[in-house]
Amino acid sequence: MSLALGSLFTFDNSYARDLGELCVPWQAAPAPDPSLVVLNEGLAAELGVDAEALRGPEGVAVLAGSATPEGAASVAMAYAGHQFGGYVPRLGDGRALLLGEVLDTRGHRRDLHLKGSGRTPFARGADGKAPLGPMLREYVVGEAMHALGVPTTRALAVVGTGEQVVRDRMEPGAVLTRVAASHIRVGTFQFAAATRDTGLLRRLADHAIARHHPAAAEADNPYLEFYTGVIEAQAALIARWMLVGFVHGVMNTDNMTISGETIDYGPCAFMDAYDPATVFSSIDHGGRYAYGNQPAIAQWNLARFAETLLPLLDEDTDAAIEKATEVLLSFADRYEHHWRAGMHAKLGLADGAGDQPLVDDLLTLLQEQEVDFTSFFRALSRAAAGDAGPARALAGEGFDAWAERWRRLLPARPGPEIAQDMDRVNPVYVPRNHLVDEALTAATDGDREPLDRLLAVLARPFDERPGLEAYALPAPAGFGAYRTFCGT
Ligand code: AMP
Ligand code: MG
Repeated sequence: MSLALGSLFTFDNSYARDLGELCVPWQAAPAPDPSLVVLNEGLAAELGVDAEALRGPEGVAVLAGSATPEGAASVAMAYAGHQFGGYVPRLGDGRALLLGEVLDTRGHRRDLHLKGSGRTPFARGADGKAPLGPMLREYVVGEAMHALGVPTTRALAVVGTGEQVVRDRMEPGAVLTRVAASHIRVGTFQFAAATRDTGLLRRLADHAIARHHPAAAEADNPYLEFYTGVIEAQAALIARWMLVGFVHGVMNTDNMTISGETIDYGPCAFMDAYDPATVFSSIDHGGRYAYGNQPAIAQWNLARFAETLLPLLDEDTDAAIEKATEVLLSFADRYEHHWRAGMHAKLGLADGAGDQPLVDDLLTLLQEQEVDFTSFFRALSRAAAGDAGPARALAGEGFDAWAERWRRLLPARPGPEIAQDMDRVNPVYVPRNHLVDEALTAATDGDREPLDRLLAVLARPFDERPGLEAYALPAPAGFGAYRTFCGT
């Protein structure tokens, strides 16, 4: 079915136009009985889309993949990727489609992408479907990250398909509409590079430069400047993850964007007690994607990215390697810079005021005392305002000696003002695993209320509100070790 929904979205599909070799025109599987589960009104407004029209039967049919809006040219995108360190030459959108691109109200180009929309030529024997729970999880965590100020892809909507999908048990099927600056991944470059068609690789790089790092086009070596831009965007992104205790869980090169947005909320979760070894994914036995490994893994992925760009960096391969290596090695300093600036803000210190041992010693204390990462920094702002009780209660007696050093470095301003600034960067509310689980289970059983409440809480993560105390607490002891699952 093709609908005249030109007024709903105005598509301009530059990816399919510029890079036809990297995608396959494809249609979504029709959903037998689509129904809207959740619509992101704020994001719809940002896209300049009429939310009421999206709620109507035609809008829901589009969001389910059952109807193709006018101007859409849906394609499955090809990509490769290193998964847990092993190279897979052909991944691609196995259960997803790029519907098209739209210009949002600020003139920024955004991809509309359906996930869970049926098998494609990249499905590799899998069913192409997605259960409702994991799609809602992507919606919730993406919105939480957005509200926390972390660059991220976001969900415009989740619709139920009216069909059951087979996992451990039968589950209601769903389609998520993802909005992203683009879906170009490190894995997209790996796929293009593997074709050995340098013209194609160059077109992909030029396309990515135009969309994400336009200033690079003016540089002496645009592709080196582009690489530098991606390194910088990822260094900033990973630092933001670390500062809020986010564990992505599956940092394969196909899940790393060129735009610097977080993508693919699968086995991700927020850390409770501070521990660099924190892993949630049931399949990450070696802890490759543990919280504390994320910066090193990002750099590893960016080395794989550099390998794809070599033919564009210099005609001479050795010279290309030398140029790329120099930029790659700047990742550590760039990451350190963002992490340190962020940590200083979390601690209420002027940038550059604190010393590294102060931060390291705090993290050691938090780890030894198994302190809840999110709660601690809010308690610390109470200490800045004059009440050290909550922080001491969390971190134990060792807190006082550390706090004495910390206080000496605080700016000469009234404590309550410092506390206010700290509260602007240290969230009270993050999507805690037990709360997300509870909301998704209820929603899957048809009760939307816990999900709506959770979304409302997470939309203002820095703004402590009476009555929401339970949302600020770590999981009850009975919740146990949390496990998340891939391939959902
Ligand atoms: P992800 O773990 O979501 O990043 O997916 C990794 C790869 O597996 C991608 O190529 C996906 O398109 C593909 N994939 C994951 N789940 C399915 C599914 N149910 N059907 C088809 N392909 C899938
Ligand atoms: Mg993925």
